[in-house]
Amino acid sequence: MTIRDIRISHHQLPLDPPFPAAWDTQPRQLFPATIVRVDDDSGHVGIGSGDPMHGIADYLPLFLGADPLDLHRHSEVLANIDFHAGRPWALEVALWDLAGKCRGEPGWRMAGGRDDRIRVYASSGVHRPTNDMAALAERVRDEGIPALKIRFGRATIEEDIAVLERVRARVGDALELMVDCNQGWRMPWDTQAPWDYARAIEVARELERLGVYWMEEPLHRGDYAGMARLRADTDLRIAGGEMTRELHEFHTLLERECLDVYQPDAVCSLGMTRLKGLAESVVAAGCEFTPHTWGNGIGLLANAHLTAGSVGASFIELPYDPPEWSPERRDFPLARAIYPDAAGWLQLGDEPGLGIRLDEARLEQTTAGATGYRQRHARAS
Ligand SMILES: [Mg+2]
Repeated sequence: MTIRDIRISHHQLPLDPPFPAAWDTQPRQLFPATIVRVDDDSGHVGIGSGDPMHGIADYLPLFLGADPLDLHRHSEVLANIDFHAGRPWALEVALWDLAGKCRGEPGWRMAGGRDDRIRVYASSGVHRPTNDMAALAERVRDEGIPALKIRFGRATIEEDIAVLERVRARVGDALELMVDCNQGWRMPWDTQAPWDYARAIEVARELERLGVYWMEEPLHRGDYAGMARLRADTDLRIAGGEMTRELHEFHTLLERECLDVYQPDAVCSLGMTRLKGLAESVVAAGCEFTPHTWGNGIGLLANAHLTAGSVGASFIELPYDPPEWSPERRDFPLARAIYPDAAGWLQLGDEPGLGIRLDEARLEQTTAGATGYRQRHARAS
């Protein structure tokens, strides 16, 4: 078998009403998706999605004619391209899907075969008024989802804490609660300094009082000393790494004991092959591996197969904040939106590959050229 063709298309779902993402200055009116299809010469098509991969066309010949099953070689080449042309990991998701189809194996089995299911946590994305956040928490609980992540970043930290207090008062111990401080990275226009240790420990004390399961990105991703000190000084689990790009950076995080929970996303950093190895190192160090996965359902499936099949996790991220961020919006490229079962498990099944079924008509309707994509980013910044 050899790889015969690689096709990449860009799409945009109009969002009306817009999605007021907590980490964005303007409500989002479009949700972009890049779809990658890799064809082999026996009729299999591997599917992936992730970053737009501008400039990738120059490097696609490196894969044409190659063996689809040579995943380690593909991972090495993609890690090189990551330096030269930006994050190419959507292509690796498609290569894993293709390899699974060639071998007749589901992704979770390729990742190690540990489990064919994984439990989710609901990851909210909107700064709702206090009572509305409490109502969301009740809804999540009633749907059998065991945990909810709340975004900080309102005008004052007191407002953030008040929301968390109200949610805890409303649902008691029925939900685990995580808090995302989003200090690890920056949106393109954001010139504010991230929190320092003094600020982070002050917030951590409040989260300890409220029984939070993990505190996510309390400091910049390069503040190794601050993270290690914070982790030593609080009982909270410290989470991070969603935008850390290099394997050696993760090794530094591990060596310096910076985090309890490691969150690299297979469509943003390092890809599935490299993250499978990293996940094993993270668990061997007594820590937890559970990827960030704030994208469409294809990225969610890639991260879920990788994690369930390799090391397992207490919960994996499910972007879920209806009505503004519904499964139907999130998964618009898919024929069917992804839902966990009544106890909050994502069942991954036995279908070869990652179990991705595209909605071709929807993709046709939402086709967008590269120019439109660039214009959107220029406006947002
Ligand atoms: Mg996060």
